[in-house]
Amino acid sequence: MTKLSAAEQIKTAEIIAIGTELLLGQTMDTNSFYLAEKLSDLGINTFRRQVVGDHRERIHDAIRLALEVNDLVITTGGLGASDDDITVQVVSDITELALVEDSSVTAAIRKLYPDSDRPDFIIPRVPEGAKAFPNNNGTAPASLTTFSYKGQIRHILVLPGPPSENIPLLEEQVIPYLSRYSSSRFIHRYVRMIGIGEYKIEQHLKDLVTGQTNPTLAPYAGEGGVVLRISQKLEEGDEDRTGPLIDIIEERLGEYIYEIGTRSLEEVVAEKLHSHDLTCAFAESCTGGALSARLVSLPGTSNIFKGSIVSYSSSVKKDVLGVDPAIIEKYGVVSAECAQAMAENCRRLLKADLNLSVTGFAGPEGGTPENPVGTVYFALTHGDSVSVYRKYFSGNRQRVINYAVATALDLLRRSCTE
Ligand code: AMP
Ligand code: MG
Repeated sequence: MTKLSAAEQIKTAEIIAIGTELLLGQTMDTNSFYLAEKLSDLGINTFRRQVVGDHRERIHDAIRLALEVNDLVITTGGLGASDDDITVQVVSDITELALVEDSSVTAAIRKLYPDSDRPDFIIPRVPEGAKAFPNNNGTAPASLTTFSYKGQIRHILVLPGPPSENIPLLEEQVIPYLSRYSSSRFIHRYVRMIGIGEYKIEQHLKDLVTGQTNPTLAPYAGEGGVVLRISQKLEEGDEDRTGPLIDIIEERLGEYIYEIGTRSLEEVVAEKLHSHDLTCAFAESCTGGALSARLVSLPGTSNIFKGSIVSYSSSVKKDVLGVDPAIIEKYGVVSAECAQAMAENCRRLLKADLNLSVTGFAGPEGGTPENPVGTVYFALTHGDSVSVYRKYFSGNRQRVINYAVATALDLLRRSCTE
């Protein structure tokens, strides 16, 4: 394909999700979420999104507003044969292009719906001259209309609403087609950390965060940790500058980094246990099995995970796990001594290489002046030795549990490298 002039390229896009159900909170607008990522991968900037009901004038206004400043406007929804499905008619009004049948669309419909030649079957139409993308999972096709709007080249991409239809359309046909309109692309890389908060990360990387416009750095909270996203927009001929930046981040924050890439903490832990040929077992109190669940969510865990005793109540700690009642009496269940006894009894009963206990106050009730809600003790046996850790996590019950699980996984990860 011939090289596009700057005016023909797509640099910016606006997504308009159409459907009254979206405004009423009955359907979650997952289409915009999905499209935002796809556009970013294509190197197309999205500066604004809209959600609008099935209302002809408002759809009209939304599309016109988006056309003022964007090369590409993408609509999802409002494409069926029912009365409220008016998107293509509005596009026809705005572009002043008649709606016509498209032979590739009709052929696909005839194949998918053998009874489509009956008189009441409405064959969907597309704006004249538009590139049509037949839908293999429904009737409404996608279409890309290119036209001149106030002297500028503009594109309107119309997509059906159901994700089961628009995702295959986008992946198989529309995105490969759209990629010709963008000479740039985005690279996103991820540095995953645990044991350090967003604020501290920003302080350590202040010069990089404020000094850089491309690549950009942005930390955001992940499950029990922080993910630092490094994004660079690459124009033709540009070199990837994310590598040297990641080297600097590693130099400054290496001790907190468990992954440079997309693997989750449990994936990293599982891989380490596999490669060191180690097994683990847990005695869980305040995490109530959530730690085991995170690990077991991965396939192939049976070689590395022996099991867990969810000893939530004191009686299970004593009667099943075998914690000495005197320890609980003297120090309480949320204590270094109880955590240690839980891990040692876990080793005695489950006989793993690494035996880990978790006991803490997840709240909202409970806690003592010395150990307020959010205090969690961990003990980890490795061979004959046992290490005990005390941590404090702020936030609500679910957050404390998430952080306790993530910290426990991190302790396992660290003990594999030691
Ligand atoms: P429509 O093309 O407007 O007839 O959409 C049909 C169905 O697609 C709706 O009833 C929703 O279930 C689904 N849908 C529409 N818009 C969205 C959206 N933005 N995100 C997720 N699902 C949607
Ligand atoms: Mg609809």
